[in-house]
Amino acid sequence: MSETGWAIALHGGAGTIPRAQVSAEKEAECHDGLRRALRAGADILEQGGSSFDAVEATVIELENDPNFNAGHGSVLTSDGGFELDASIMRGSDLEAGAVVGVSRIEHPISLARLVLEKSDHLMFVGEGAYEFAKSQNVPFVDPSFFDTPYRRAQLEAAKKASVVSLDHNDGKFGTVGAVARDRSGGLAAATSTGGMTNKKPGRIGDTPLIGAGTYASDQSCAVSATGHGEMFIRMTVARDIAALMEYANYSLEDAVHRKVMEELPKIDGDGGVVAIGKTGAPILVMNTDGMYRASMVENGKPYTAIFGDE
Ligand code: ASP
Repeated sequence: MSETGWAIALHGGAGTIPRAQVSAEKEAECHDGLRRALRAGADILEQGGSSFDAVEATVIELENDPNFNAGHGSVLTSDGGFELDASIMRGSDLEAGAVVGVSRIEHPISLARLVLEKSDHLMFVGEGAYEFAKSQNVPFVDPSFFDTPYRRAQLEAAKKASVVSLDHNDGKFGTVGAVARDRSGGLAAATSTGGMTNKKPGRIGDTPLIGAGTYASDQSCAVSATGHGEMFIRMTVARDIAALMEYANYSLEDAVHRKVMEELPKIDGDGGVVAIGKTGAPILVMNTDGMYRASMVENGKPYTAIFGDE
């Protein structure tokens, strides 16, 4: 592998993922989904494209996949609706875009990108996001587009148990995200989610918040997080990893380890991150039993994994 060649990593959510609860077919399906998404980004990077295009393409594939909690197949709010969040950041100029609480946009990550590219603002919520989407001729979908029987059943189970759950904590799948480095050393990160099952309407997690669930700076690293959003916000996880590198000379590996394995557990912050630096391979770390994840470096082979010991 070239130390500074392109590289990419993605996640499809972290949580308690007991092997016994994942059928062989489901496992194979998920590996296929992870590979497909990895390939979408890797192809762009291999052809000399930007890390920014690559992370968007990867997240679009994951939003399409009903096995993951983003786009079609998102989890439901306590009132049975959908509120999707997404953000994207470019490391070369620290430009970022985000959308919050949308239920009528097929690809929240692409709307977040448009916010970055075509608006004077960084983040749009609800009606304002729709007004902006209309101004950009983004097609609308009915909220039922995101609906899947499996997620409805999950909501009923969460309500019965009176919990707000990371959807993968019952052995299933989560928030999606990607980080990439292109051949010119440009870094980017993107994250997209339906949030947490049975969340109250209006609840916002870490995914759309720059510095919490998503961050990218060419000076240090790109990070995309998945996990219990409230704790990731309190710990400003994504920006802290970059800051540890920028201000305290941490290696990417040590910075990720400190936030995910040492600090988040102190406040019961379940989850993980994928991260990539100016050189070397991506880092994929979680403090949970498993994380749907994948990575690839230039001239390397695709790696996909679900359980902690893979
Ligand atoms: N971080 C997401 C949220 O809190 C959930 C997840 O990662 O699955 O909305």
